[in-house]
Amino acid sequence: MKVFEIPLRIVPEERKTVTASFDGSVCLIRIPIILSRQKKRSVEYVDRIYWKMLGQILEPKLKARTNELNCTFFGFEYQKVRYHRQFRRWGSCSSLRNINLSHRLIGAPQSLVDYVIIHELAHLKFLDHSRAFWELVVGTGYDPRSCRKEIQQYGSKWYLDYQRWLNEVKLIIEGSN
Ligand SMILES: [Zn+2]
Repeated sequence: MKVFEIPLRIVPEERKTVTASFDGSVCLIRIPIILSRQKKRSVEYVDRIYWKMLGQILEPKLKARTNELNCTFFGFEYQKVRYHRQFRRWGSCSSLRNINLSHRLIGAPQSLVDYVIIHELAHLKFLDHSRAFWELVVGTGYDPRSCRKEIQQYGSKWYLDYQRWLNEVKLIIEGSN
């Protein structure tokens, strides 16, 4: 999914909450008229609801993929897998055995998503970056060094695309009334 290229329609309406829906081609975001008059806040709301909506659409796929990779390589037990708005980390694994993945992975190449999932699954056994942890990761056939490099490159590009996208949102909101 090309997350920065989905056409956005932002519609100010007599309503109380911000909602977003996606019909497969256009993302429709409805915002309260009163909010739409505050341009900066509107951009923040649209930004949040947009990624939340994509996360909800893609979460089942992500869960299925995590399960698949876990069955193939590990067979560990875990609780939940979720997308979170997370700019600093790509993923995390909590001591409660929940796996959290950054919303920046929405639309990322599958090999990168897989690597982050494998990395976090491996933390179910080792909650550190010890030698044993890396041996477990390398044992799956993924090369942590090259994956890390690819993720950094993807992350830099993601950030530029995101800034451009935010500007577009701003222009749409400024033009909306
Ligand atoms: Zn780690």
